[in-house]
Amino acid sequence: MTPTPTVFEGRASRFEVTAPPPADGSTRARAGRLELTHGVVETPQFMPVGTNATVKALDPADIAATGATIILSNTYHLYLRPGHERIARLGGLHEFMSWDRPILTDSGGFQVVSLGDLRVVDDDGVTFRSHLDGSLHRFTPEVAIGVQEALGSDVAVAFDQPVTPSSPRSVVADATERTHRWAERSHAAHRRPGQALFGIVQGGLDIDLRAESTRFIAELPFDGICIGGLAGDETPAQRDATLDVAVPLLAADRRPRYLMGLGSPADLLEAVHRGVDLFDSVLPARVARNGQLWVPGGRINLRNQRFLDDPGPVQEDCPCILCRGFSRAYIAHLFRAKELLAYRLATCHNLTFTLDFMARIRASIRSGSFPAEMSELRLRAGRISGDEVAEQSA
Ligand SMILES: [Zn+2]
Repeated sequence: MTPTPTVFEGRASRFEVTAPPPADGSTRARAGRLELTHGVVETPQFMPVGTNATVKALDPADIAATGATIILSNTYHLYLRPGHERIARLGGLHEFMSWDRPILTDSGGFQVVSLGDLRVVDDDGVTFRSHLDGSLHRFTPEVAIGVQEALGSDVAVAFDQPVTPSSPRSVVADATERTHRWAERSHAAHRRPGQALFGIVQGGLDIDLRAESTRFIAELPFDGICIGGLAGDETPAQRDATLDVAVPLLAADRRPRYLMGLGSPADLLEAVHRGVDLFDSVLPARVARNGQLWVPGGRINLRNQRFLDDPGPVQEDCPCILCRGFSRAYIAHLFRAKELLAYRLATCHNLTFTLDFMARIRASIRSGSFPAEMSELRLRAGRISGDEVAEQSA
C-alpha cells in the first residue's frame, strides 16, 4: 500500500498532517500544522468568531490570551458595515482590527441565505435586503470573492447555498448543484496572492448527495475543504453519519477539513474523532454573555443564587483572566448588575476553556493515546451538545 502523502502545498498555505490517524481504524482523528500568511495554526483547532471585526467584548490581547491563533470574520457583516472597500483603504482587515494572526473569512452565503423573506436565490446569485436598513444588495460568487480579497483574510471561502439540514431532498439537491457551479466560479474569480481559498461541500443529510458533493468539491483545486450544511437542526447521530460519508471520501486528500459552525466541547470532540481539523462557532462566546460558564464536566449558570456567596474561582486550574483574578461571587454580581466587565470576563473564560480543550485533544492525538483517552475527554466536555447548550442559555 502506498503511504498517503501528508503535506499539501497550496498557493498561499501549507498543511502537514503531523500525526496521522492510526492504521487500526479506531479513530480518524489527526493532528496537523496549517501554515498561513499571518502565522501557523495547529490542528485540530477552534476559531473564535469576530463577526463585526471584533470578538464581542474582547480586544486583540484578550483574544490572544484565550489561546486563539486564528479567528473567523463575517464577509456579509463587514460588506454591509463598515464596507469592504473602506476596510481595504484603511489597510485591510488585519490592520483595521489590529489582529496580526491568521483570519478566515466566510463567504457570506450562510448569512445571505438565512435572511428568509429578505432574499431571493437564482442560479447566478442572491439578491437580498440588508438586515440593517433594508437596502437592496446582490451577492454572486464573484462579489463574495471580491469582498474577501478586499478584506485580505488569510483564508477566503467559496460562495455557497447552505440549506437547513432537514430540508426536503429536492431543496437540498437544488442547492447542492448550485453550490457546485458557484464553487467553480468562486475559484475562477479568485486572484489575491497570499490568500488561500477553501471550497464548501453541501448535500444535507442525504448520503448520496453528500457523497456526490464531497467528490465534486474535492476535484477542484481548493486549498481546503469546508463541510457545510451541518451544525443546524440535525441530531448528533445524523451529523456523525454525514461525516462518516464525507470524511472517508477525503481519506487520501491532503487538504485540511473544516466543519463550519460547530462549537460545544462535546460536539467538537466527536467531530475531531471523525476526522475534522477546523471549527468555528459563536456558541462559547454567546452562552458566556448569557452567564453560562463551561467547566470540566459541565457548566455553571451564574444567575444561580448560590454563586453570590462563593469565594472560589470559576475553575481552579484555568489560566484565564476571570479565574486568575476574581471569585464566582464577583462575576455573579457583575452579571446581576449587568456590568460590561461581566461579558468580557465570561467570554475570556469560555473561549479559554474551549481552546484549552482543543489543545488537550491535540496532545492526546500526538501522543497516540486519543482512542484510549476519548472517555476521559468526553467527561471533561460534559457531554453537552450544542442544541442543549443553546436551549439552556435561551
Ligand atoms: Zn477561566
